[in-house]
Amino acid sequence: MSNTRPEILFPLFAALTSLDGVGPKTAENLENMGVERPKDLLFSLPQSGIDRRLKSTIQGLTYPLVVTVEVEVGIHQAPRGRGPYRVMVRDAEQDFQIVFFHAREDWVQKMLPTGQRRIVSGKIEVFDGVAQMTHPDHILRANEAENLPNFEPVYPLTAGVTQKTMSKAVASVLGRTPDLAEWIDASLMKKQGWPNWKTALEAAHQPENINDISPMTPARQRLAYDEFLAHQMTLALARARAKRAKGIATKAKGLMARLVLDSLPYKPTGAQTRTVGEVLADLAQPLRMNRLLQGDVGSGKTLVAMLAMCDVVEAGGQAAMMAPTEILARQHIASLTKMAEAGGIRIEILTGRDKGAVRKTKLAALASGEIDILIGTHALFQKDVVFNNLRLAIIDEQHRFGVHQRMELGAKGQAVDILVMTATPIPRSLALAHYGDMDVSVLDEKPPGRKPIETVLVSSGRMDEVVKHLRKALADGRQAYWVCPLVEESELVDMTAAEDRFRMLRLALGEDVVGLVHGQMPVADKDAAMAAFNAGETRLLVATTVIEVGVDVPNATIIVIEGAENFGLAQLHQLRGRVGRGDIASTCLLMFDTPLSEGGTARLKIMRETQDGFKIADEDLRIRGAGDLLGLKQSGLPRFRIADLESQAALMEIAQDDARLLLTIDPGLTSDRGRAIRALLYLMDRDRAILLLSVG
Ligand code: ADP
Ligand code: MG
Repeated sequence: MSNTRPEILFPLFAALTSLDGVGPKTAENLENMGVERPKDLLFSLPQSGIDRRLKSTIQGLTYPLVVTVEVEVGIHQAPRGRGPYRVMVRDAEQDFQIVFFHAREDWVQKMLPTGQRRIVSGKIEVFDGVAQMTHPDHILRANEAENLPNFEPVYPLTAGVTQKTMSKAVASVLGRTPDLAEWIDASLMKKQGWPNWKTALEAAHQPENINDISPMTPARQRLAYDEFLAHQMTLALARARAKRAKGIATKAKGLMARLVLDSLPYKPTGAQTRTVGEVLADLAQPLRMNRLLQGDVGSGKTLVAMLAMCDVVEAGGQAAMMAPTEILARQHIASLTKMAEAGGIRIEILTGRDKGAVRKTKLAALASGEIDILIGTHALFQKDVVFNNLRLAIIDEQHRFGVHQRMELGAKGQAVDILVMTATPIPRSLALAHYGDMDVSVLDEKPPGRKPIETVLVSSGRMDEVVKHLRKALADGRQAYWVCPLVEESELVDMTAAEDRFRMLRLALGEDVVGLVHGQMPVADKDAAMAAFNAGETRLLVATTVIEVGVDVPNATIIVIEGAENFGLAQLHQLRGRVGRGDIASTCLLMFDTPLSEGGTARLKIMRETQDGFKIADEDLRIRGAGDLLGLKQSGLPRFRIADLESQAALMEIAQDDARLLLTIDPGLTSDRGRAIRALLYLMDRDRAILLLSVG
């Protein structure tokens, strides 16, 4: 079967200028609102509508109001001075005026000839005690009345495109829209009571009343489902391809993992044991693993990763673990080295900092298999990094990477099992949209003995009290973070703010007690600062958000976040997760500047009320919307035109099941339904997905 766009779709992919009323200028303006092809207009639905039903009179109505009435045209009154042009009219009961500013007289004369009857539709207002309609939306002869729909759709517009242009262009596309073979499963259609595709489009574009604008109408639900289905098909195709790529069955007895576990002062949680089991079951399969490990901050994902890597090494392979920041990579190597030693495993770190001879030596050791586990930053995936036998790639704190990067990694062509780990708990609907190509394990239990973190809001006016409180806590042997405010414009400004705060706190608390770490620091200084804090030499670490992700110093039990109102919820949750990692009760002080905005107040309140990452994620989604939550650009999430991730999560779930099931029955999309789905993928600009189809 050829993988090209079916001919039946050609009219929908023609130039915009092929549509009625669309010239080159309008086409350009439409492109500015993301409408590039006729089919894009089909998916730009009206956002509201105007009642244009004919009334006999304006009398007794409450103005201002859009009204459609038949009138008898009276005398014209040319402008006096700078006033408007007025036309006296009378409906069945009442006189009023039609008013034009800067109108050409001959045009008005032609549209509203004195003594004749016309239907006018527009907004009636009272001005100086006189009812008037300024610039009617429509002026029609009585015999043209049927051209005016009872309920006129109102489209979202862009500069240079009017409602009339939109309506005309949409009508023109609808006129050339073919009936397409159904791609939705028949039983689902029936259960939901959905119309077929073309009928749904017509219903959505030709609403009969305001209820027809609701996203809950069967027509709009169906069109939303189409978008989700196209998205999930794309992810399912990527997933199927990743699975097809031959993996290597990793067979190990868990001997190394046993040695590592025996060396630990604690036992794995039930959730850790279960998720390790899920990962190992994948590894044992001759298919490629593509798994997401989701676990809130502090749930112990690192150990799960380590135990999986142990089995891969025992089976004679190599493993790599990529962290998003240098600090985190260093921390991983620090904590994993002890475990690796216990298991007799050779572990090394590679970051952008390794240059020249050092880098060369490490690369050689890697290529010859002298290194079993390589920890690092994205430097791990550079071209010249060659493994002897890489079997497992782990990506830590994956929310910083998007769908595309993940797919590219998988597309490297090696038979590498992939495990991505993320702490950002995201709502189910988003997880489905973002990770639909993966299998998911959830680490839903924290190590025992963790005390809840007390979260307190303080205004920045009470800074002195906060410092006093810190002085006492540090004297009691506790450790703390001080996170400096987020200044979006530049990292340099962030740095200056951090350095200023560092100087002030050193003065207040003592030279040797306070450390500083920020992104602009020379790497050696950064390491030294982290190491000193880790070892307990410094008691207070002043930092920018470089400590946001993954930093693990269990003795640190206080975190002060300055300018907390300017951070997003997810980020605050991550930052707060730096404490509460030991068995001593922890405190999080959220400092804010007054006056607090409404949004700022809402966010800080949520932080005070809950520590449940999923609850926080749901609120975050509600407040910010999906694109923002994942960072639309990196997220790789499509911009759904009709569907709404927040309110239609259930549909997304059905779409995922549906897509995965269809691919198991019809991997090449060659059945009737499979062919119909190909058309859907083209309509939704998923040509790339079609390239993922298996050959034959
Ligand atoms: P995250 O999921 O945020 O990456 P980490 O893997 O950094 O969490 O673990 C957080 C802390 O919990 C670490 O100090 C780690 O040593 C500790 N830890 C992990 N698993 C357990 C366990 N089963 N019992 C006690 N402490 C644990
Ligand atoms: Mg971690």
